[in-house]
Amino acid sequence: MSTLRNDIARDLALPRTQNEYTELVRALLHQRCPLAPPKAFVHTYGCQGNVADSERIKGMLAEMGYEFTDAREDADFVLFNTCAVREHAEDRVFGNVGALKPLKSDKKDMIVALCGCMMQQPHVADRIRQSYPFVNLVFGTFAIHRFPELMYRVLRGGKRVFEIGETQEPVPEGLPVRRDSMFKAWLPIMYGCNNFCSYCVVPYVRGRERSRTPEAVLAEAKEIIAGGAKEITLLGQNVNSYGKNASDGVNFPKLLKMINDLPGDFHIRFMTSHPKDCTKELLDTMAACEKADRHLHLPFQSGNNRVLKAMNRGYTRESYLELIRYARKVMPDISITSDIIVGFPGETYDEFRDTVSLIEEVKFTSLFTFIYSPRVGTRAAAMEDPVPYAEKSRWFTELLKAQEKIAAARSADMVGKTYEVLVENETKEANGMLTGRTGGNINIDFAGDPALIGSYRRVRVTEAKNWLLFGELV
Ligand code: SAH
Ligand code: SF4
Repeated sequence: MSTLRNDIARDLALPRTQNEYTELVRALLHQRCPLAPPKAFVHTYGCQGNVADSERIKGMLAEMGYEFTDAREDADFVLFNTCAVREHAEDRVFGNVGALKPLKSDKKDMIVALCGCMMQQPHVADRIRQSYPFVNLVFGTFAIHRFPELMYRVLRGGKRVFEIGETQEPVPEGLPVRRDSMFKAWLPIMYGCNNFCSYCVVPYVRGRERSRTPEAVLAEAKEIIAGGAKEITLLGQNVNSYGKNASDGVNFPKLLKMINDLPGDFHIRFMTSHPKDCTKELLDTMAACEKADRHLHLPFQSGNNRVLKAMNRGYTRESYLELIRYARKVMPDISITSDIIVGFPGETYDEFRDTVSLIEEVKFTSLFTFIYSPRVGTRAAAMEDPVPYAEKSRWFTELLKAQEKIAAARSADMVGKTYEVLVENETKEANGMLTGRTGGNINIDFAGDPALIGSYRRVRVTEAKNWLLFGELV
């Protein structure tokens, strides 16, 4: 027995490439289950950055011989790619992992794995270690490219594997990607964040900014276009600081232009733009790029200067509004969306009203609104937070009502006009209706053949019910 253990230890210490590990994992899985390919279930929480990471993990799983299932009870491998940005997201993960316990007792060979931002927090990894002994593999955001090696260690060593270290190495390239959609593709251009907004956990779980090289981004863009994608979304926590420390001089506007100049019939989107680093050069470039959709997601978080300072956001209400004015000057049809936090520690009702007045002034297309959630280790978590949650919830409802009015007026204004939409899917009600999204990121439902999914079509808006829009194919 001890000889076997020594053999395994020696074997695991051998330096190998990730491709070699993939082959070894494939062989071990085949040994375990020679009659049918093993099945993987992957569930992703959180932002598009996580979705893009999962597409890479699924690429690696496919190379290991896995097929995919939407039913966790059918799976031999279950992975949750987690989000740490708010407590609610974390609670859902713990609930769903706990629910796997009976499944795992019935199916001893099932591998349960957790990855993503939550796992990069030591207190979470400790909780998994202690309270969820049936979890086989935990890896953080810096270890994704080493997934084949980690799987090999799980299969060969039989022990639980935790890999949650941090690194500043350049972004690993060459990972296989299994994209969820053939017509809309996520393209990460950078990882991490240097901004340390006082409420935010992202810099702690994703590390410092690391940009991919323009060559790597362009190569993936070409591959996406050749695969027939109609829409490419460039991803980063703060795309505006792309290439900041690179010596090649390619900043985000230049990268955007380079992608725009690639031959092909496709649209470009990007997120997220931080107002602190959003320059006139970017807005001018966007205006000049015929493939860039007229949509700018520019989170302002709060309309009050004292709160913005306490959040460490690096801009003021006035400079934000100046950016909006400039964006609308160079792109009169631009659709602007934003993120808002209600109830930041110490925020007063009057300060919250400045947020409402800002949305009324700008008239955003839509908003992502959040009640402040304290995150372990952040500066805001240590601040006095005297306003009770119930009170913050009332403010939140007040904000939603104000935005509903704005959205309803905007929707009514769209009736009778025709828009080019990317047909995305059938509506959830499965009533013969399709949903398309305009360049401004507004959904319109219309009757049509599902064969249209994945193509651009012209749709005339015929009716607005509050902010919901209905139309017909032109
Ligand atoms: N990098 C992006 C945001 C990423 S997180 C940016 O700076 O705009 C997405 C959104 O989650 C943020 O814009 C913010 O509105 C919200 N958010 C982040 N941390 C939060 C917290 N602790 N509580 C509530 N909302 C939070
Ligand atoms: Fe978080 Fe601020 Fe970085 Fe966005 S810019 S990820 S809100 S720290």
